[in-house]
Amino acid sequence: MEEVRVRIAPSPSGNLHIGTARTALFNYLFAKKNNGKFILRIEDTDAERTSQEYIDNIFDSLKALGLNWDEGPDVGGPYGPYTQSKRFDIYPKYIQKLLDAGYAYECFCTPEELEAEKAEAHANKKPYVYSRKCVNLTEEEKEKLRAEGRKPAIRFNVQKAQHAFHDSSILTFDDIVKGHLHMDTSLIGDFVIQKSNGAPTYNFAVVIDDMLMKISHVIRGEDHISNTYKQILIYEALGAEVPKFGHLGMILAPDRSKLSKRHGATAVSDFVKEGYLTEALINFVALLGWSPSDGQEIKTVDEIAKDFRINEISSSNSIFEYDKLKWMNSHYIKMLPFDELKKRLMPYLEKYDLSELTPQQFDKMIEITREPLVLLSDITDAVEYFFGEDVHYDKKGEDTVNTEVSQNVLKDFVPKAESWEWTDENLHQKLEQFRADWKEKGVKPKVTMWAIRAAVTGRTCGADMVGILDVIGKDKTLRRAKKAIK
Ligand code: GLU
Repeated sequence: MEEVRVRIAPSPSGNLHIGTARTALFNYLFAKKNNGKFILRIEDTDAERTSQEYIDNIFDSLKALGLNWDEGPDVGGPYGPYTQSKRFDIYPKYIQKLLDAGYAYECFCTPEELEAEKAEAHANKKPYVYSRKCVNLTEEEKEKLRAEGRKPAIRFNVQKAQHAFHDSSILTFDDIVKGHLHMDTSLIGDFVIQKSNGAPTYNFAVVIDDMLMKISHVIRGEDHISNTYKQILIYEALGAEVPKFGHLGMILAPDRSKLSKRHGATAVSDFVKEGYLTEALINFVALLGWSPSDGQEIKTVDEIAKDFRINEISSSNSIFEYDKLKWMNSHYIKMLPFDELKKRLMPYLEKYDLSELTPQQFDKMIEITREPLVLLSDITDAVEYFFGEDVHYDKKGEDTVNTEVSQNVLKDFVPKAESWEWTDENLHQKLEQFRADWKEKGVKPKVTMWAIRAAVTGRTCGADMVGILDVIGKDKTLRRAKKAIK
């Protein structure tokens, strides 16, 4: 079998989308599985929508997800450059080849003329197909139009290519994911392959690039199926080998509409900013269309690669369940080794003066607050009360601290705690005793603890109380408790 060469070809008109990450992953997995190559190509032919910032974001996001490419803009490779805007001198040769063979022709129609055609189709409630007005222009007619200052676009002659290589107007191909697909090409108008400014269009550049980069399998979203017919015809007209195609179902939001920002984050970097781990993200997107043979969903990319079979990918759409991603994220946070967790939490602790804590206190704070974290960013709120002198009460905390029973508990707590030795073990015992004493007076242990917790943290729930007192320290605990007494 020829070498498997697959690619991800993002257009840098935005940050790397989570859907593109999934497409990249499936390509990456297919390459790994087949000892093939995974290639990154930046499709920046649309200069107006392209920015370096987006290109950098694509690089960084793919790397953060562990989807390292074998050939690409920054690492090179035998068939580069891998950025379309750096390949502009490659395309004209193939345009000329198609012109010479009659599979392409110059079109001098102005935007106004084309608009008028579209408007007429619209008025007649017909799908718009280019009139092919320019297909048979004579050399003299072309010269005249050129003399008027018109610059031609180049169009692909769909019917000529179709009839040269197929018996009817129906074009078929076997999709690795979707199975047998077909289309009536008489519905495809002669599309532009080179704009009047000389720039190649997507459908043309992608074929030339895939051909020259020896791409064996084109795996991408099903929104490209209609392009695939056009691309097959271009390959055939150039006498090139047609790669195999696999089209993935779309990723939909829980309400089954297109996933968009109004549902939540959509760019990988936004998920990361929100506190998702890249390990969780990549595991989660793998399950959008693929399922593990052993039913065990938590898997690393390497484990998935072993089990991955492209023909088993579901051809239907997948629902992006943010709740499931959150569940996975909390799982991955729990699995992180302590030092790694600390490192990853740091960006979310920037607003605090960490020098308020000794390294031991800091570690203990993380130990006692990590358990309920769903997002790394949850740590910001979870540790708020360890910092600063004063307590910031939430509504429940304020109500709790002001009840009569809380006030009585605190008035008893302060003088007693003043004599306590402030070690973890001792605090544990003392608090236990303290609760028992109040229980005898008819106060439930949890009510006793709420009073202390509310006074020291401003809240009614949070991390283990002994741990909190230990980290906050005796002096601050007592100052806060005293202040809470009205
Ligand atoms: N640049 C195209 C996109 O971002 C790539 C499509 C393809 O894979 O051919 O949608």
